Amino acid sequence: MATKSKFQAIRGTRDLLPPETALWNRVEETARQVFGTFGFGEIRPPIIEPTELFARAVGGDSDIVSKEMYTFEDRDESSASLRPEATASVCRAYIEHGMQQLPLPVKLYYIGPMFRRERPQKGRYRQFYQIGAEVLGGSDAPAIDAEVIEMVMTFFDRLQLPGVQLEINSIGHNADNCRRGYVAQLKAALEKVKDRLGADSQRRMESNPLRVLDSKLEHEQPIIETLPRIADHLCDDCKAHYAAVKRQLEMRGVLYRENWRLVRGLDYYMRTTFEITAQGLGSQNAVCGGGRYDGLVELLGGPPTKGIGFAIGEDRLILSLQAAQNQSPVTSRQSLDVFIAWMGEHAQATAIRAAKDLRNAGFSVELPPIEQKFGKALERASKLNSLYALILGDNEVAEGSWTLKTLADGSQRKFTEPALLDFLKDSRD
Ligand code: AMP
Repeated sequence: MATKSKFQAIRGTRDLLPPETALWNRVEETARQVFGTFGFGEIRPPIIEPTELFARAVGGDSDIVSKEMYTFEDRDESSASLRPEATASVCRAYIEHGMQQLPLPVKLYYIGPMFRRERPQKGRYRQFYQIGAEVLGGSDAPAIDAEVIEMVMTFFDRLQLPGVQLEINSIGHNADNCRRGYVAQLKAALEKVKDRLGADSQRRMESNPLRVLDSKLEHEQPIIETLPRIADHLCDDCKAHYAAVKRQLEMRGVLYRENWRLVRGLDYYMRTTFEITAQGLGSQNAVCGGGRYDGLVELLGGPPTKGIGFAIGEDRLILSLQAAQNQSPVTSRQSLDVFIAWMGEHAQATAIRAAKDLRNAGFSVELPPIEQKFGKALERASKLNSLYALILGDNEVAEGSWTLKTLADGSQRKFTEPALLDFLKDSRD
């Protein structure tokens, strides 16, 4: 016999529910507003893309592509994947729609879910949400890097995100007189301390030496401190670009800390990299990562194109805001304004009309579908945390005089229909 199965959300995914979703919406509205003031338009790329796009853009050897992607064979036998990030999609769209013909740079932002088969923990999910932006084409003027960072910081400031810290670095560019030369030296230095490094770092030393600098292992920290630093190996152009980015940040009043260990593992990442952390997140405290990637569009088959962007982890942003909610005025607003307690057939017709008028005026209204005794109805109104109850019995309807009860103190007042609407509008302003 079939047993009743209980379905649960897949591991690493979760339902976002009211009232929390109100906070998600507020965050997304704020992003749209702030990014709009910086001249960014929204792009909504698909959630599935050719697997090869990510293999190229994120790197076939990366953990994200080699272990964490949700990949399936599409019907026509091409391989498709759920997107693990969106920069690749934005660049693909830039090329596909010939956006290099538009006035440059093209400034785009996106909001949506990403998928990575990671080990779930607080602040790390298999379906998570990112809010990101990219500036494509035009120049690589340091003011662009600085303005992109200023935009994220303005967004976080608007949300009153607690304990925001910006770290920046320059990783130069992929040339012998710049990053390649540095990586060779780094590798040589790592060889000398190899025995004292853990297995992960030993592996990375070969595959991607820069990533050793990411290590969080306690016993490796003093060793890493002695390694050569990229700032001492930047070419003149990259050095000048980095100095100018810092100057531009200062002109914008953006506070930063330099962190020489902030790196990206892929060749096309260059120059500016940045990361932003916030409070209340434990070990997963990065809420935003970004950087310059001038080679990416070309790598995907487009024209040589300058590029810089960032991705904010929305789940973590929300966690941090929630952790701080007691201290800041981010609390959600009352969700129900008026509960209409009606009794009698005439009253229902009036109640339906009143609900329509109140909703058109922007109030949230609960209209019981079935007649209820006033006592019951008022109980439900306070359970729903309504500000007011509008009491409509056949008498009230006949007299054209409606009773409005303020649930917080139990006080009642009578109004004519138009006076009621005016009163509610006044009390809202
Ligand atoms: P990345 O695309 O890896 O550079 O990540 C950018 C930001 O996305 C990070 O700083 C995190 O805030 C967020 N993020 C990345 N992976 C996850 C995940 N599995 N769950 C939740 N947030 C994530």
